[in-house]
Amino acid sequence: MIDLDLTAEQRQFQEMLREFGARELAPEVARRDRDSDPDPELFAKLAQLGLPGVCVPQRYGGAGLDWLALGIACEELEYVDASCRTALSVHAGLCLTGIYQWGTEDQRQRLLRPLAEGTRQGCFALTEPDAGSDVRALRTRAHKEGDLYRLRGQKVWISMGDRADLLLVFATVDPELGTRGITAFAVDRDLAGPGLRSEPIKHKYGLRASDTAVVYLDDAMVPAANRIGEEGEGFKVAMSCLDSGRYCVASGAAGTIRACLDMSVAYAHQRQVQGQEIGRFQLVQQMIAGMARDYDIARLLWMRAGWAKNQGRRSSRESALAKWVNSERANRCADDALQVQGATGFSEESPAARYLRNSRATLIYEGTREVQTQLAAEYALGYREDRPVRCPLPAWPDEGPASP
Ligand SMILES: Cc1cc2nc3c(=O)[nH]c(=O)nc-3n(C[C@H](O)[C@H](O)[C@H](O)COP(=O)(O)OP(=O)(O)OC[C@H]3O[C@@H](n4cnc5c(N)ncnc54)[C@H](O)[C@@H]3O)c2cc1C
Repeated sequence: MIDLDLTAEQRQFQEMLREFGARELAPEVARRDRDSDPDPELFAKLAQLGLPGVCVPQRYGGAGLDWLALGIACEELEYVDASCRTALSVHAGLCLTGIYQWGTEDQRQRLLRPLAEGTRQGCFALTEPDAGSDVRALRTRAHKEGDLYRLRGQKVWISMGDRADLLLVFATVDPELGTRGITAFAVDRDLAGPGLRSEPIKHKYGLRASDTAVVYLDDAMVPAANRIGEEGEGFKVAMSCLDSGRYCVASGAAGTIRACLDMSVAYAHQRQVQGQEIGRFQLVQQMIAGMARDYDIARLLWMRAGWAKNQGRRSSRESALAKWVNSERANRCADDALQVQGATGFSEESPAARYLRNSRATLIYEGTREVQTQLAAEYALGYREDRPVRCPLPAWPDEGPASP
């Protein structure tokens, strides 16, 4: 049975996040965006709230909550700051769940635990200059030498790539093998040597307060013990990470839609034209009605995906669909929110302009709008179906902390 009411604990969690957003994010969000200035303390602040390992079992250092909690966090953080939500979803959605689902028990204790506790930050490095939507075209090479691998190649557009302590990097052991050569590695910045360098990408259209980087791998070293999954399993690892990442993007987008709605309602009450508030004009009402409709749709879609995940089910279809619909709707609502405000919205520093620029990224990353459209068609046509998920995260409440 699906229960759409939040429990008392979930409401408390949501309240705590709203209070955090208003206190820690809202005062600086416009300036950080204007100055392209990511908050260096952001991850530590998220860690204080237990968010990095929010849905990881307590025995691996997490908070032991469930997927809905992660969705609530993404929605509430993006309501205020999409760059902050990106940091959480890359860490908790893309990086950490991959290591949980595909890692060995040793890797979960050694690599996952510090990520879940929030003492180390993770990122996910798949995209290359010539391999974005087409993961098959990936060229970063992994050469095994004794008990370590050397990685050579370049990753681009990597969120948190300039600050993450642990990079989940995808490389091929043999390009001739296509996807069956792709292998996942947990690259520890402290162990990789001088062959790992990164530099931030400047002058982005949106998500300016998010660290997005180029990562250079020039014989970066990775202990063989940090290979996640078997050689050749990396494509499957990447796709399962993307299931969780898309879920985070979808729930975050609901936050943007709600922010657009709240802002537009307030402005429509306050702005007077022809002696009445603009909320009385039907064409303004149409835009606001669209936002109210889209918020409900977005919320239902991400909650359905979260519910499926809590059941331990594969949510590839639900997450991709929610990501596709919600990111498109968020971008459309941001455009309408700007329109409701007229010239006021057109200022580069208006929240509506920021929502518009930031939401544009969600139509590109973690599978473009076109890739999501293609996936939806393939599911409908029966060309694609979901197999059982590997090692699902247990639904909340989990079994509690590990015995010492
Ligand atoms: C802000 C930001 C943050 C990012 N963070 C990360 C990250 O943390 N980690 C990471 O690995 N990557 C990250 N990316 C990269 C992102 O995932 C890629 O940009 C994305 O997968 C698209 O790849 P591409 O840019 O190479 O576009 P391409 O794949 O070259 O696509 C170009 C165009 O062709 C279309 N297209 C491609 N294939 C098809 C097809 N089969 N059918 C129809 N149309 C198609 C696309 O939809 C697009 O419109 C980030 C990108 C951005 C903008």
